[in-house]
Amino acid sequence: MNDCIFCKLVRKEMPSKIVYEDDTCVAFLDVMPRSKGMCLVVPKEHYTFFDENFDTSSKAFDAALIVGEKIKKALDPLTVFFSIIQAQVPHFHIRVYPVYEDQIPLGENQPIETNEGELTELATKIKSVDVDWEPKKKEVVEVIKEVPVKKKEPEPKEKSGEEKSENKEEEKKRQDNKDFWRKRDWEMA
Ligand SMILES: [Zn+2]
Repeated sequence: MNDCIFCKLVRKEMPSKIVYEDDTCVAFLDVMPRSKGMCLVVPKEHYTFFDENFDTSSKAFDAALIVGEKIKKALDPLTVFFSIIQAQVPHFHIRVYPVYEDQIPLGENQPIETNEGELTELATKIKSVDVDWEPKKKEVVEVIKEVPVKKKEPEPKEKSGEEKSENKEEEKKRQDNKDFWRKRDWEMA
């Protein structure tokens, strides 16, 4: 995806104010921030929707938590918002917004004014914060096969002779089932 601006930023073919980077993601300051210090967490791989690559999206969430914490410590906002909004750039990303008392970064808000000097200063501040947390390696848990639940045998009903013979086969089947379950219980015990 040569035309994708985020791919270019990830490949560092365009300058950006990087605040965090790991094997999977890069995070940089938004140059048109909705609040002071707003960052974008961008996977290095190009894809559009979160469910096109669950593993990478999951790692992007981990990175977003780290970036959020860095922003919190560096800029002391009231809190931090996270969002994923399908916007102009069709490259999956997570927005991390610091929220200040006078700057609620709602979607419809216009970008705030900023400049190169301020962005550089903010990036340096955010980058310099160490976060004392690392995503745990996700263990692959083997899914245990669902054990079928033993069904209750229906209460025997009084039946007419005709019905009985008609149901003989069914009854045999049921008996076979019972044997199957008995055997199964035994095997499982
Ligand atoms: Zn891209």
